[in-house]
Amino acid sequence: IIMKKICLLGATGSVGSSTIEVVQSYPDLFKIVAFSFYENEIKGRRLIELLKPKVVAVKSKKMAARLRLDYPAVQFTYELEGLTELVIRDEVETVVTAVMGSVGLLPTLAAIKAGKEIALANKETLVMAGDLVMEEAARNNVRVFPIDSEHSAIFQCLQGENSSDVSQLLITASGGSFRDYSRADLRDVSVSDALNHPNWSMGKKITIDSASMMNKGLEVIEAKWLFDMDYDKIKVLLHRESIVHSMVQFVDGTIKAQLGVSDMREPIQYALGFPTRMPVKKPVFFDLAMIGQLRFEEMDFERFPLLQLAFDVGRIGGTAPTVMNAANEVAVNAFIEGKLPFLDIETLVYKAVYQEKEVQKPDLTILLEVDKETREKVMSWI
Ligand code: NDP
Ligand code: MG
Repeated sequence: IIMKKICLLGATGSVGSSTIEVVQSYPDLFKIVAFSFYENEIKGRRLIELLKPKVVAVKSKKMAARLRLDYPAVQFTYELEGLTELVIRDEVETVVTAVMGSVGLLPTLAAIKAGKEIALANKETLVMAGDLVMEEAARNNVRVFPIDSEHSAIFQCLQGENSSDVSQLLITASGGSFRDYSRADLRDVSVSDALNHPNWSMGKKITIDSASMMNKGLEVIEAKWLFDMDYDKIKVLLHRESIVHSMVQFVDGTIKAQLGVSDMREPIQYALGFPTRMPVKKPVFFDLAMIGQLRFEEMDFERFPLLQLAFDVGRIGGTAPTVMNAANEVAVNAFIEGKLPFLDIETLVYKAVYQEKEVQKPDLTILLEVDKETREKVMSWI
């Protein structure tokens, strides 16, 4: 591969950090020419000095003005528009979307329209507007490479196969922080309990989503759009070891699986290097004999109603997933701020979804309107 010029949205986050490590391990292959951060100015400044980008998008006009004084060689953009201005720059070839939540949508669409290749971590984008995003990608001949580990696994299993030979996608779920809790146990769990994920170290929102199983629900919808698969052909399995990242079953009964350690650098490397596999710089500790056994169990939809909801909402389609995503973002944020008990996340998301009559085949304006209205409504309930 020749040197790939990358725009990294969400450089200060968990996926952002893993992406920077990958880029730094292969300085001849990858370069970050632009990136964004939001509130973490201390880390943002460190990254400007480390990566020497041409342009950086930040939270506010004020922050941009302050940074311009200290880094006159760097251009700064700001607010949501600043993200869009960043991704369409001529020097950018690939956009890694590692921002959290629905802010990912508009810059991702802008990047696709500008013909930039996408490496997508931000699953909320596809949940909110999967139909529009994939349609736009097809129209502009833009490839969307998955970074989410389950989707990277499925993508890897599909290489060399015909999509018509696939009988189902098997997405694995670690079960999150509360996988062995009963519904009664869940009633008074704390924020720090929920943030204590057994297998992965990630940003706060996705860690809470993993505990509520909303994350797996979002991933089901993400898989539908990335791989153009009916919901009837997507199945979720509980897999405590998180070693099998996901699987694909074919019409002849064969199942292909992708196995690996719980380290986001692996799917990021695959997305950025595709179709070349990058040699591992440091030996990875991955010994199947040490792990000993891999277990798979059926998901309990009564125990995890948000997973059921995601399937239902995905099948309804239209604006229904947009409502679910917006309600979840607001509720999770309120839980993190200590304003809501854990189980109320579910209650609010269900209520928002079932109060709303979905609009079918929504355009972008309707989606953004529905997203905004849902947020306001759920906020008023809290
Ligand atoms: P983090 O919370 O660690 O990072 C989020 C990033 O987004 C930070 O750089 C943050 O900036 C920025 N950000 C937050 N809010 C805004 C906003 N309103 N406008 C612009 N930028 C904003 O999240 P993760 O890295 O864990 O996750 C990022 C995405 O990747 C999510 O969609 C998640 O679902 C997905 N994902 C994550 C995985 C993981 O292992 N973490 C695995 C698979 C998918 P700042 O910190 O400077 O405020
Ligand atoms: Mg995942």
